[in-house]
Amino acid sequence: MKKPKPPYNEKTQIRAALRMAWRRHPNLQIVLKRDRIERPYVKKDGSTSSRPRVFYKCVLCEQEFKQPEIQIDHDPPVGPTPGSKLAPPDLTWDAFIDRMFCKPERLKIVCKPCHSRKSKEDNARLRAANADRLEQV
Ligand SMILES: [Zn+2]
Repeated sequence: MKKPKPPYNEKTQIRAALRMAWRRHPNLQIVLKRDRIERPYVKKDGSTSSRPRVFYKCVLCEQEFKQPEIQIDHDPPVGPTPGSKLAPPDLTWDAFIDRMFCKPERLKIVCKPCHSRKSKEDNARLRAANADRLEQV
């Protein structure tokens, strides 16, 4: 069954637009170049192609994947959107943008299954930390 579409939310849209801008950031190309693993491509007839096969190693499960199967993870995570339920009240958009548009050192290659598992864990941790904070008020 399809989930009903959530009502229009300005902050969610801004976050999505920032993500789109981030996807074109030169640091992503730096990371893809940095972590690229090239293996010779041996053709069916036994000869080696002049173009190697390119793989990336997931930092979590340490398996190798082709580029469509990997994602680039922020470590530590970008965290909540300013003004959202899980965000600290003093979180600014500048701080959020700084965390999203970060240096290559904070960017790690992960496979899609590991990334979705890690994101779930990060969000659960965030909700737990948030519950503690709300109890203190
Ligand atoms: Zn993995």
